[in-house]
Amino acid sequence: MRRGRRQKWMIKIAEERVNILFNRAQEEFFQNRERSHRHVQMARDIAQKYNLKIEPTWNRRYCKNCHKFLQPGTNSQVRLKNSSVEIKCLECGEIRRIPYTREKKEKRRRKIEFHTIKKGNNE
Ligand SMILES: [Zn+2]
Repeated sequence: MRRGRRQKWMIKIAEERVNILFNRAQEEFFQNRERSHRHVQMARDIAQKYNLKIEPTWNRRYCKNCHKFLQPGTNSQVRLKNSSVEIKCLECGEIRRIPYTREKKEKRRRKIEFHTIKKGNNE
């Protein structure tokens, strides 16, 4: 295989791995927080390597500054402000704002994704 070429199936596998890693990060958060954060790091490494966009569902579940997994109510604070969602990372204090209209759409999406992930991730 030639170097530097990203084939479609490879990208698809990489995308799946990123999703699986974020799911693991979520699962392990309450058991082993360090390991949870490491999963996020691995997911980011893969995403970077393959130039992938991290899904909106997960994109807001980690801190862009310290790269830790964020669990609302535990190490992150989520507030609605005007027409945006404010996510504060309690690990480093970074604040992100996301327009609220997107939030509503994502909630619906997350429900669908949750079911598909549960079915397809029986390792
Ligand atoms: Zn942070």
